[in-house]
Amino acid sequence: MQIGNSCSKLPFGARLHVRTCLRWINPADLAGVGSIELQDSMPKATKDSPDWHKQATADELSINGLYIHGSGISPARITLFTRDIYRGIPKLYWLTPVTTLSFARTLAHEVGHHLIAERGYVFTVGEKTHLPEYEEEMAHRYSSSVLKRMRQRCYYRLAHRAMRDLALTHYMLGVHEWNAGRYRKAAEDWYKAFHLDSDRQDAIDWYLRARQRLVGDVHDMSECRGSFLRRSSNSH
Ligand SMILES: [Zn+2]
Repeated sequence: MQIGNSCSKLPFGARLHVRTCLRWINPADLAGVGSIELQDSMPKATKDSPDWHKQATADELSINGLYIHGSGISPARITLFTRDIYRGIPKLYWLTPVTTLSFARTLAHEVGHHLIAERGYVFTVGEKTHLPEYEEEMAHRYSSSVLKRMRQRCYYRLAHRAMRDLALTHYMLGVHEWNAGRYRKAAEDWYKAFHLDSDRQDAIDWYLRARQRLVGDVHDMSECRGSFLRRSSNSH
């Protein structure tokens, strides 16, 4: 698999993490993917961008990866956005399995999209994938299945726990920033907590409260929260 790089500064270990992740994905599932491209981050949304992209730009949300369908003689491609994949992970962890898991979560999610594009299902013929939210759910389940297999190794189990601990640290930092009235920093820490551990719905509730303090009642909070719950992985 060709791994391209157009990052302004490729974080150390990034290619190694991608190659390690590829060993955990069935090669047959990758058939038809021409390349994996590493980029800094997704460009900001324009007026013609889809709604999820506009929301991500407006709320400074992470987009970790993108699946680009093949067309004609151009094969499908997967783009991984390193700034978002590393978001919330201290440099101390950049060469550890913690970062491998962060890459794996996104890369496997995009492979899930690829399977749906290629054969119309992820696990079983007849799966519902015709609506975008169904497709997202199945891509997420494929990613979860890969991570579950990885966690059979003790070092990935430990890395998973370390990710949850990092999420807790960011959560507590968010509380500290909120109490000090620094709502932007609080929002960022709570977002990182959710980014590292999507089970932390409490972090998202507080993130939305901090954003409301920053921008006023621009968003309908319940609608915004719903979009987070539907999209537990920030990849497309
Ligand atoms: Zn997706």
